[in-house]
Amino acid sequence: MPLQPTIGLEVHAELSTKSKMFCSCANEFGAPPDSHTCPVCLGLPGSLPVPNRQAVESVIRTGLALGCHVAERCRFARKNYFYPDLAKNFQISQYDEPLTHDGHIDLEGEGQPVRIRIRRAHLEEDTGKNIHLSDGHTLVEYNRCGVPLMEVVTEPDFRTAEHVREYLYTLRSILQYLGVSSADMEKGQMRCEPTINWIDPDTGERTPKVEIKNLNSIKSVYEAVKYELARQKRAAAMGEEELVQETRRWDEAKLVTATMRLKETADDYMYFPEPDLAPLAPEPEWIEEIRASLPELPRARAQRLVVDYGLPAYDAGVLTETRDLADYFEAVAAAVPDAKLASNWVMGDVRAWLNQEGGDISTLPLAPTALSELVSLVAAGTINNTTAKDVFAKMIAEGKGAQEIVEAEGLAQISDTGELERLVERAIADNPKIVEDYRGGKRKAIGALVGAVMKATRGQANAGLVNKLLKKKLG
Ligand SMILES: [Zn+2]
Repeated sequence: MPLQPTIGLEVHAELSTKSKMFCSCANEFGAPPDSHTCPVCLGLPGSLPVPNRQAVESVIRTGLALGCHVAERCRFARKNYFYPDLAKNFQISQYDEPLTHDGHIDLEGEGQPVRIRIRRAHLEEDTGKNIHLSDGHTLVEYNRCGVPLMEVVTEPDFRTAEHVREYLYTLRSILQYLGVSSADMEKGQMRCEPTINWIDPDTGERTPKVEIKNLNSIKSVYEAVKYELARQKRAAAMGEEELVQETRRWDEAKLVTATMRLKETADDYMYFPEPDLAPLAPEPEWIEEIRASLPELPRARAQRLVVDYGLPAYDAGVLTETRDLADYFEAVAAAVPDAKLASNWVMGDVRAWLNQEGGDISTLPLAPTALSELVSLVAAGTINNTTAKDVFAKMIAEGKGAQEIVEAEGLAQISDTGELERLVERAIADNPKIVEDYRGGKRKAIGALVGAVMKATRGQANAGLVNKLLKKKLG
């Protein structure tokens, strides 16, 4: 049997709470350096931590959404290590008693579904930030120190980089739907560390585990996993390079992984139960309250869009990527006669605009009602698609309504048969060669005649009608 890859993932997500994990400092990005600090998050002697209820709730929400069990009783643990961004020389985390455990995420996979088991989703606190300057000095900034962090750990169930990528998109979208984290990897709100090795299924022999750090986007994770799988396979097969248990970092510029340090083991951290915090025992009624308040999750919503609006599964998947985009689509679709047309507009022109501007749907200066007015004009045949694209751009640039623009600029589609007939006759008279081709059996030649009429009307002719009239005249 050939070697099989095994990949496990640890994902850290910063929770969008009002305050930090164990103190009342604001959990806010972008404030002046060290302005959100206090004796607790700086670990000054004598200060005592108090757990953040909203953070505990966020992890329970996530656990429930991932099908995890919520522990009746669990504890925080002290993870001891020295690092300049961790002022108190230990991190409060969870070790052998996580808040939630044993859930799963199902991936669509390519063709066949794949279940990724979730080992645990637990709660801890973030560290501060080291800022490395070009002159070799390093600054430490403590605003992030003590921000609530959720860690979601999978079993080593991934076999391919594609699965890893799909998992990260799925998890990100679930966290955003739940409202527990913004989960933007590029902003460091979600961080991912894959652990990769190979196993011989016959003998159970394994290559040493390698963990990868320094991954700043889902794309980097995908590329790093692909690279590392290939490197380890080559090393195991050729014996050119010795594989060791280690932590490697992803080099974004060179697109390679490189040794960072030998991997620590749990023993190195001297975990012990956090003496300053009582065990956590969430009340069953509270857990049920949280369960009842879970929103419709992305996959369920995609399935509903297929059923309720008759959309293709592909459209439903794209439209439910974020909760806001799905809300936007549903608001547009509710007010137009053709949901598929609404989907085409949101997936096409709206997303193209968002990509170009680099914003999310909240930055689009078009309310859903404004877009549905435009989509309705297309559905009714008042304007054709080409004109509608121009109107869309004008609506954004000028802040006017679709109907208003169409009326003011006389953009309504020409569906007057008498007028179109005259134009069709002229197109036939002006293009004898094309007409000859068409009559000689080249049916596609009709496209050039439709084009001539469209040109004569500055794109405003009803193309379907022109096509019909041409066919009639040409016999
Ligand atoms: Zn604080």
